[in-house]
Amino acid sequence: MTHAWIADRTKTFDSSGIRKVFDLAAKMKDPINLSIGQPDFDVPEPVKAACIDAIQSRRNGYALTQGMPVLRDKLQARVDAEYGHADRKVFVSSGTSGGLVLAIWSLINPGDEVIIFEPYFVMYESLVKMAGGIPVLIDTYPNFTIDPERVAQAITPRTKMILFNSPANPTGAVAGEAEVRGLAELAAKHNIALVSDEIYRFFCYDQPFVSPARFNDQTLVIDGFSKSHAMTGWRLGFVHGPQEIVQTMLKLQQYTFVCAPQPAQWAGAVAMDVDMAGYVDAYRRKRDLVVAGLRDHYEMAIPGGAFYAFPKVPRGTATEFTAKAIEHNLLVIPGHIFGRRDTHFRISYAVDDSVIHRGIAALNDLARAL
Ligand code: PMP
Repeated sequence: MTHAWIADRTKTFDSSGIRKVFDLAAKMKDPINLSIGQPDFDVPEPVKAACIDAIQSRRNGYALTQGMPVLRDKLQARVDAEYGHADRKVFVSSGTSGGLVLAIWSLINPGDEVIIFEPYFVMYESLVKMAGGIPVLIDTYPNFTIDPERVAQAITPRTKMILFNSPANPTGAVAGEAEVRGLAELAAKHNIALVSDEIYRFFCYDQPFVSPARFNDQTLVIDGFSKSHAMTGWRLGFVHGPQEIVQTMLKLQQYTFVCAPQPAQWAGAVAMDVDMAGYVDAYRRKRDLVVAGLRDHYEMAIPGGAFYAFPKVPRGTATEFTAKAIEHNLLVIPGHIFGRRDTHFRISYAVDDSVIHRGIAALNDLARAL
C-alpha cells in the first residue's frame, strides 16, 4: 500500500495469505474444493418463506439497533432459560463478524493484550491489531486443547481479553467441560474479559456443547445464524453479555452497522424453531467419512465439531503441500493462514459426499506421492 491517503491503522495487518488462496481457487477449473467455510445445505424452507413474507409485507426499513422484538425477545428468553443471569442482555448484530468487531472496539484500548489460541479464526488477530491491541498467541498444537495452566502463565497486568472459540475454526476441536470451566474461572479470577465465539455450537458430534458463560456470568458470547442455518449471506448474528457492555456495543453499532437486515430478523425468529438435528447428524456422518478416509496417511486430531478437519501434512510445509494439492485439482487451506505454523492444512467437509470421496482419494494419492 503506497497511497498517501491510507490510514496507518490498516497497515498493521494484511489479508494477502487468504486472498492468494481465493485467487488460486478462481483460476482452477472445477476443483475438488475443500476450502469453503459454509454449510452446503440450503436455508430451511420455512426460514426462506419468512424472509420473503417480511419483504412482501413491507418490513424493509431500518430495524431497531438492538434488534426487532420478534427476534430479540425470543433470543433473550432462550438465553435467560439457559443461564438465568440477571444482568445478561441480548442484542442482534450484523453477523457474528459484526459482533466480534463491536466487542473488540468496545473493550480493547491501545496496548491491551488479547490472548488468542493458535490456530485461530483468521479475523481475530487482525481485529485486535486494528484496535491497537497486542495479540498474545498460545499454541495449541497438536491436540488443539486449551491448558488453563499455560493460559495463566501468559497473563500479564496488560491482559484485557481472552478470545475463545469452541467448536473451533480451523481445527474442529470442541473444548470439554473441564477445559471450559478452567478457562472461565481463570478469566473471572483475573478480571479478564472472556469473549466466546459460539457460531458452531450446533455442530457438536461427540459431546454436548459447553459455554464458558455457564461458569462465568461476565462472559461475552458472540453467536449467529450463519452456520447453524446456512444464512452466511444474510448477515444475522447476536450477542449476549453484561448489560453495560451490551449498551456500549449498541452505541457503536448505531454509528457503524446501524442494524442487522430487518427481513433476516423476521426469518431468524422462525429459524429458532426449525429442528436442525438432521443436518447435524449428516455432518457427523461426513466427519466420520473424513476421519476414516484419512486415517492411514495423515496424523489428525479427531475433530469433535464444526465442519473442519486439520490434518498434518505428511512432509514439507503446508504451503508446499497446498501447491502440490492444486496440481491434483484439490483446494485446501494451508495452516499459516491461521497462525505462525505452516505444518497442517484445513479441509471443510461441508460438501457433497461425492466431493468428500474424491477429496479423500486425492489426498491419499498425494500422501503416497510425496
Ligand atoms: N467466527 C468464526 C469462528 C467463523 O468461522 C466465522 C465464519 N467463518 C465467523 C465468526 C463469522 O461469521 P459471520 O458470517 O456470522 O460473520
